[in-house]
Amino acid sequence: MSKHVVIVGGGVIGLLTAFNLAAKVDRVVVCDQGEVGRESSWAGGGIVSPLYPWRYSPAVTALAHWSQDFYPQLGERLFASTGVDPEVHTTGLYWLDLDDEAQALAWAAREQRPLSAVDISAAYDAVPVIGPGFQRAIYMAGVANVRNPRLVKSLKAALLALPNVSLREHCQISGFAQEGGRVTGVLTNEGVLSADEVVLSAGAWSGELLRTLGLELPVEPVKGQMILFKCDADFLPSMVLAKGRYAIPRRDGHILVGSTLEHEGFDKTPTEAALQSLRASAIELLPQLKDAPVVGHWAGLRPGSPEGIPYIGPVPGHAGLWLNCGHYRNGLVLAPASCQLFTDLLTGAEPIIDPAPYAPAGRLG
Ligand SMILES: Cc1cc2nc3c(=O)[nH]c(=O)nc-3n(C[C@H](O)[C@H](O)[C@H](O)COP(=O)(O)OP(=O)(O)OC[C@H]3O[C@@H](n4cnc5c(N)ncnc54)[C@H](O)[C@@H]3O)c2cc1C
Repeated sequence: MSKHVVIVGGGVIGLLTAFNLAAKVDRVVVCDQGEVGRESSWAGGGIVSPLYPWRYSPAVTALAHWSQDFYPQLGERLFASTGVDPEVHTTGLYWLDLDDEAQALAWAAREQRPLSAVDISAAYDAVPVIGPGFQRAIYMAGVANVRNPRLVKSLKAALLALPNVSLREHCQISGFAQEGGRVTGVLTNEGVLSADEVVLSAGAWSGELLRTLGLELPVEPVKGQMILFKCDADFLPSMVLAKGRYAIPRRDGHILVGSTLEHEGFDKTPTEAALQSLRASAIELLPQLKDAPVVGHWAGLRPGSPEGIPYIGPVPGHAGLWLNCGHYRNGLVLAPASCQLFTDLLTGAEPIIDPAPYAPAGRLG
């Protein structure tokens, strides 16, 4: 397709959109105000599932299921072509002492997901490092986590190898060029960059940018803090979640514990209070972490949206402008399906799933 596409924002959503579009259009440029893949997509935990999948709408579930099936092949393909392994690590996930266990099990039966109640003693046998006192467990086999900093690194490498893709880092977009009611490009700190189609995938910043056109997009930053431990590679065989906090094992024994949910605007300074609170949760969940050093602590800004349903599709009344943003707590798990659906819509292909729930039309103020 003879088109020149500019993508605003190089998080996992912008990068994967570029990767998909590169096979379909003439030229793709990704602009990021910093380095690509250094914001929420770097900061997240990388669980390839919503934290409580049964609490989401069918719209989120549809994207999550498509992506979950696709992640292993995406990881293998990126590793083979770039030498950077995104480390899709299938560990399964235990939820402990869940309040809405009945709803979870009913959802799993309906959606045919491999989630079931297990005897708490079986959970302690499978994951002996879990702390004492938990009464109930449910387990979902097959849930993976992806090492998101590696995922964005491998996506960047894959894009750099494509002749029709350019990455413009430290290129800040301040608004949109328009002509006769059509968006014809973006305004950058280096001048106007023209495009046939502009894609807004600027994560938590997407609402600010759309406001320059007088449109209200309810995407706002939701700060999340995370801490990191380093243990032996076999310390934690599964992901575990209790009281809203989770521990994620990477293959090399790094354990991520998250996260907070804070409304602090665009401030992403890590705080001592969050560090202490996350560490206390980590020790309650996995008491041996008491003796492990905290080797990292950071915050990221999730692109919060109503019900976590992303905006995927054209902006009504502004031909040439498209959205792929607002993935809130699930941008890593939802990325493959969101970016494939987006590519289908922009190129006029048969969409992988019904695009209606994600359409910006009717959802912008
Ligand atoms: C603590 C934490 C834990 C999480 N855990 C998980 C998890 O386990 N599983 C999961 O699926 N999701 C998780 N998430 C959510 C996930 O990280 C996000 O939904 C996802 O990364 C959003 O990707 P994005 O590309 O839309 O945004 P981002 O990665 O934030 O990328 C947006 C990009 O746009 C750029 N940009 C912004 N404004 C401009 C501008 N004006 N000009 C140019 N560039 C601009 C930014 O520099 C940035 O690189 C977590 C998030 C956090 C913070």
